[in-house]
Amino acid sequence: METDPIDSDPYAALATAALHAGTAPDPTTGAILTPIYQSTTFVQEAVGVHKGYTYSRSANPTVTALERRLAALEGAEHCTCHGTGLAATTVLALALLQAGDRVVLSDVVYGGTVRLFQQVLAKFGVTADFVDASDLACLETALRDPVRLVFLESPANPTLKLVDLAAAGRLAHAAGALVVVDNTLLTPVLQRPLDLGADIVLHSTTKFIEGHNATVGGALITRSAELGERLAFLRNAIGAIQSPFPAWLTLQGVKTLPLRMERHSANALRVARFLESHPRVTRVLYPGLDSFPQIELARRQQGSGGALLAFEVEGGAAAGVRVLNNVRLCALAENLGSAETLITHPASMTHAAVPLAQRLATGITDGLIRLSVGLENPDDVIDDLRRALAA
Ligand code: PLP
Repeated sequence: METDPIDSDPYAALATAALHAGTAPDPTTGAILTPIYQSTTFVQEAVGVHKGYTYSRSANPTVTALERRLAALEGAEHCTCHGTGLAATTVLALALLQAGDRVVLSDVVYGGTVRLFQQVLAKFGVTADFVDASDLACLETALRDPVRLVFLESPANPTLKLVDLAAAGRLAHAAGALVVVDNTLLTPVLQRPLDLGADIVLHSTTKFIEGHNATVGGALITRSAELGERLAFLRNAIGAIQSPFPAWLTLQGVKTLPLRMERHSANALRVARFLESHPRVTRVLYPGLDSFPQIELARRQQGSGGALLAFEVEGGAAAGVRVLNNVRLCALAENLGSAETLITHPASMTHAAVPLAQRLATGITDGLIRLSVGLENPDDVIDDLRRALAA
């Protein structure tokens, strides 16, 4: 019997929810888009009688609409949206940790996450150990000492190293820790960590979720009502909620997330194959290439390779910088996940805050180039890279 291709299309699975989950036409006007509730406060009918909103630091209807949408996409009920991805990480840490607690993080994570734990949270008595969680024996050893939280990023920014999330989560739970997964690079379209056992999913919505280089934002998503309440309490206590306008822009961006992730992935695979075949490129890391060291895990755990890849060129750091300085279509910039292709030098940009020894030990070399493949015609991106590689 023939099957309808849409039935087996992973990108179709969330297509309706990305457009509709958590919102309905505005009951007072019929407006199809949730309005931007640009209001600090909400008038109460009597003391203690209100419609669920009192003050926009605690909750705001536009932000709630985005929270419902993101929770639905991750298969959860509870979500808090924040001013940035790092604000979400800060809320997470302050809500769940106290002085004396230890956190184990995977050894390659976004540089700002490293800086937050090493240079800020350390001052408040929180210890952070970065371990190679792609090696389960190594993770198991690290979990022998008391641990409150295990923070995993898979694929990791910028080397794309993967962690077996289900197996790592089981080890973390056996050690009594909560499991948080930063799902920024794949989004729920390509990976749903809560289905793999994680307690909380973290997003920088700045990236693919909003997708248009128009906002910064973050989100924490969980199935646990108790964790959801702790996160919402902390967000209100420190004032880390997202503003209504960026939440509204993110609500528009997320509608096309499944479509965009499909095209991002197809374009990235094309570009990765071109780079792999180029004589001046010495190494390409992309979890959709047969040569990727963890390709079996990638095929099992992710819907596709995603948009991000990393590569190195012959001649080391100086040659890499020459490529970065000679692109024209690819934008040399500190972001990823946007419609535009962005090219980044992690050593001097996104991961400059990671101590040198830690950076080099985890493969973030001075010559590593990160590429977030956008939605342009991939042949134009390839032509740009071919020219920059010849410069
Ligand atoms: N997590 C990952 C994987 C990131 O790449 C980033 C930013 O680059 C963040 C978190 C932090 O997000 P934001 O820049 O929105 O604070």
